[in-house]
Amino acid sequence: MKTCPRCGETKSLDRFWRDKRTKSGYAVYCIPCGTKRNAEKYRANAVREGRTTRSWRLLSAELPDGRRRCQHCMEALPLDSFVKNAGKAGGIGSYCKPCHISRSTTRTSNVCMAEQRHTTYDGGTASALPTATT
Ligand SMILES: [Zn+2]
Ligand SMILES: [Zn+2]
Repeated sequence: MKTCPRCGETKSLDRFWRDKRTKSGYAVYCIPCGTKRNAEKYRANAVREGRTTRSWRLLSAELPDGRRRCQHCMEALPLDSFVKNAGKAGGIGSYCKPCHISRSTTRTSNVCMAEQRHTTYDGGTASALPTATT
């Protein structure tokens, strides 16, 4: 057993990371505290380097129910203003439709317009439907 100085709890050694640099061979803090500490360090570094991890978290915390912030224009918009993305939690993409369109337009500026229309709104489900090929 070992006491974590951060949360003050005494936990069995398997709740601590192994750390060869310490006398005991285990990290000073327990795994949950170590994880939090690392996250805080990461955020502090991010803020110092001008990255916006922290403010982004604050922004998302302020959102009223049923809204979501577009990660491009940072507007809080109702969910139906967002593109669907089956790969994301909640099935909603990170960008509002106008931003998604402008992003995909910039990214695929050399792709023909028809192709862009297929990939823009509904994640390609409509274009996956069998078309009249007979
Ligand atoms: Zn702890
Ligand atoms: Zn947007």
